[in-house]
Amino acid sequence: MICRPNCGACCIAPSISSPLPGMPNGKEAGELCINLDPTTFTCSVWETELYPKVCTDFKPSFESCGNNRQEALNSLTFFEIETDPN
Ligand code: SF4
Ligand code: SF4
Repeated sequence: MICRPNCGACCIAPSISSPLPGMPNGKEAGELCINLDPTTFTCSVWETELYPKVCTDFKPSFESCGNNRQEALNSLTFFEIETDPN
């Protein structure tokens, strides 16, 4: 599967514990990464030396990304809740 343009669901729904540019402690679930443009849902550090490994390592899949942005937000939020140790 190829990453859908103007989606960014994986930059919002999941918590990320690794450092992100400008977010040294990562981010909470549901929080927008500060590198995500909130209107176009594109990443401002994509294809730069700042692009983090955690984002390179996340590969689009039907299971995570679904058929559209809302399905991706739903799936990733569901996985976040299911894997939350608290
Ligand atoms: S949720 Fe999937 S399709 Fe959407 S930006 Fe992330 S990898 Fe791409
Ligand atoms: S750095 Fe870019 S790809 Fe990674 S979470 Fe933030 S906006 Fe998304």
